[in-house]
Amino acid sequence: MIYLDNAATTRPFDNVTERMQSYYRTDYFNPSALYAPANAVADEIEKSRESIGAVLGGGGRVYFTSCATESNTWVFQSAVKNKKGNVVVSMGEHASGYENAQALAGKGMDVRFVKLLPDGRIDINDFSKKVDANTTLVSVIHCSNETGAVNDIAALAKAAKTVNPHVLVHSDGVQALAKIPFRCAAAGIDLYSVSAHKIGGPKGIGALWVREGIRLQPLLPGGGQEYGMRSGTENVAGIIGFATALQTFMQCDSQHVTRMRDDCIAFFESIPHTVCNLSRDASPYILSLSIEGIKAEIFQRKLAERDILIGLGSACSAKLRKNRILAAMGQSMPHIEGSMRISFSQETTDTDIKATASAICECIRNFRGF
Ligand code: PLP
Repeated sequence: MIYLDNAATTRPFDNVTERMQSYYRTDYFNPSALYAPANAVADEIEKSRESIGAVLGGGGRVYFTSCATESNTWVFQSAVKNKKGNVVVSMGEHASGYENAQALAGKGMDVRFVKLLPDGRIDINDFSKKVDANTTLVSVIHCSNETGAVNDIAALAKAAKTVNPHVLVHSDGVQALAKIPFRCAAAGIDLYSVSAHKIGGPKGIGALWVREGIRLQPLLPGGGQEYGMRSGTENVAGIIGFATALQTFMQCDSQHVTRMRDDCIAFFESIPHTVCNLSRDASPYILSLSIEGIKAEIFQRKLAERDILIGLGSACSAKLRKNRILAAMGQSMPHIEGSMRISFSQETTDTDIKATASAICECIRNFRGF
């Protein structure tokens, strides 16, 4: 099988699943218990928190959640409970940010959606017009899960804090973690959502980095785990799997990912009516491609028949058969319908890419007759 849907999820690293095993089989103790083996588990959670926090650049605390959707939801719910005012988000948010923003709007909050540029990045001029002294929360995705477009979060944070020094600045860093160099505190943001399963970690574990001094509303009341902010017995194996995956991911060579992505761009752009939805400095891990006039579902099915798995965009909205983000970039309907997402991992090889490119070409030939 050739797996090229790594923006949906990644294969967990072998050392991650091996390490997690022991927290199911032998070290299964509840970290809140007071005996020594439980204390040892609690210590491992703290080490994981520290090591993920260090990758995020320090200056805050990592709170574990069940996924980035939960982290994003926590941010939006906390923002509305805390304050009045308005919320500024981009049109390019993942569904977990976008739907939370819509829910706030449904409750009567003033939610302002910032336009995207045709290349998928946020329109900074429109952003500057929408942020004002009453803005309580700004939330902008760091790296688009649809196109790989990377927003300059530090510049946006600076612009927002200049207008209102009290605004909370949040970014969804799920597709950027360990792939785009970034230090949260140095970038001037307050909150950053991440998830383990996009970097070779397990599903069902995410985190929210919260800058020192920022006090959110607790998400789940109860036994006081996660420093009283998110009660519930910890997903110990998941937390340790997350930290292990992050360390492993950081040690892998990602230069060949960039080279493969660049080879793909050169190849696909030589095919008539084929466009790569690209922006400057985009993540090398995601390539959005539109083959106009042929529905992407056809490609997906034909490739799957050959055991090649690609995405049509966000797995979360795949079933809805729409691409809100390409539409916000001003793409035409034939362009949107022909769009697919190839997303790489450090395990992707040149042979995978060649086989996929030739399968796509064959589909085009069969469909167009040349
Ligand atoms: N944000 C982005 C940018 C994503 O790509 C995803 C997953 O596709 C999420 C949030 C949601 O992450 P999780 O699956 O951990 O809820």
